[in-house]
Amino acid sequence: MQYISTRGAAPVLDFEQAMMTGLARDGGLYLPQEVPVLTADQIRDLNGLSYEQAALRIIRPFIGDSFSETELQSAIGNAYRDFGHVARAPLTQLQPGHFLLELFHGPTLAFKDFAMQLIGQLFRIALTRSGQRITIVGATSGDTGSAAIEAFRGLPNVDVFILYPHGRVSEVQRRQMTTPDDTNVHALALTGDFDDCQARLKDLFNDHDFRDRVGLAGVNSINWARVLAQVVYYFTSAVSLGAPDREVDFTVPTGNFGDIFAGEIARRMGLPIRRLVVATNQNDILHRALETGEYRMTGVQPSISPSMDIQVSSNFERALYLAYGGDPAPVRQVMDELRTTGGFTISQGALQALRETFASGRASEAETEATIRATFAETGEVVCPHSAVAIKVAAEHLDPAVPMITLATAHPAKFPDAVEAAMGRRPDLPPHMKALFDQPERITRVENDAAALKSLILERRAA
Ligand SMILES: *Cc1c(COP(=O)(O)O)cnc(C)c1O
Repeated sequence: MQYISTRGAAPVLDFEQAMMTGLARDGGLYLPQEVPVLTADQIRDLNGLSYEQAALRIIRPFIGDSFSETELQSAIGNAYRDFGHVARAPLTQLQPGHFLLELFHGPTLAFKDFAMQLIGQLFRIALTRSGQRITIVGATSGDTGSAAIEAFRGLPNVDVFILYPHGRVSEVQRRQMTTPDDTNVHALALTGDFDDCQARLKDLFNDHDFRDRVGLAGVNSINWARVLAQVVYYFTSAVSLGAPDREVDFTVPTGNFGDIFAGEIARRMGLPIRRLVVATNQNDILHRALETGEYRMTGVQPSISPSMDIQVSSNFERALYLAYGGDPAPVRQVMDELRTTGGFTISQGALQALRETFASGRASEAETEATIRATFAETGEVVCPHSAVAIKVAAEHLDPAVPMITLATAHPAKFPDAVEAAMGRRPDLPPHMKALFDQPERITRVENDAAALKSLILERRAA
């Protein structure tokens, strides 16, 4: 299996190289040259398998020779062992024809664990084999950081540094990053906002001497291996509702477009997904782009669903590449335009191609709160604000002929203030998380300055 860049000017890589590289050298994102297709029988046979067994069958065709079947099987087994639900991604019913896929039973209570736990295991195998030592640096608005720390803590050969905006993550999110006491974990509170964290991260990757010196690796959501891990729950949930013999729709709370793009891969693999509905909060650049063909940045308005507060939706580039028929030239052109003018126009042909699969909607802050309240009143389910955005948008796209599966991306206890404000009750923390509040925190403050950050990393990493 070979991987190519959406901008067409980076080396072709195998799976392991694409996973270790993250961002392609031409600034593009890696995609498989060809998406493997499962037959209807192969999809039907997933019925009744454990999540791990299904994952092995779905992921294996993308791996090539990078990992043996035994290695992949053991990585998958280790990745999901500590999830708090034996089904890993259980499906509950909200109303006739509308289902909620609970993706928040992993160790940090957000769907990011599905991908991060697996790539943690795959990195471990690859590094043991090569004897290489790497430094993972990530920027987070909250959920990615803790998922990465949880996945890489205690691993030999890896130091993990996470930059989060000081004072701008929830207390649960902060404690998840600052209480692990493994010596290879370093949570850095940067003076600035999330955009500053991302900008400093870019500075590190663009300093090639530094990059080589510390063996810098990226695990943010553009990493192909993360997208791939997320394909699995589209299959398991759709099959449990009758696929491949019945179509399904999905609604996905969307920020960086990684999660919903995994749905597009599942569809191209042969899963009968009719529609993928993009749900955005008030930061609705993707909804506007799909409505009008104009992808234009406006400025982030902080919301109660902060993991979707985003202007540049990185993985959308992969969908554009496919919509332009796999031609990297127009992708390079629109990405240049985005950088220089803050926006671009999607061609009529590409827009039509996108609309064949993707629908969209947005939820305002008031609508999100009202949905948290109404969902509890009608079903007894307490949902997080991101999931509520999706439930609201899904309700506008329900069709009695096709079941709708809405992705619930985080546990409500990660966002207790927003949930309490909406429904007058504070969500309970799962029992294993309560210890978070008794453990000492290790916080390192760092200035919004690349040089300061580099010297801190050089000083803290194991030699
Ligand atoms: C990251 C995140 C999202 C957005 O997912 P993308 O893959 O970036 O579109 C939605 N909800 C929660 C809770 C998240 O942590």
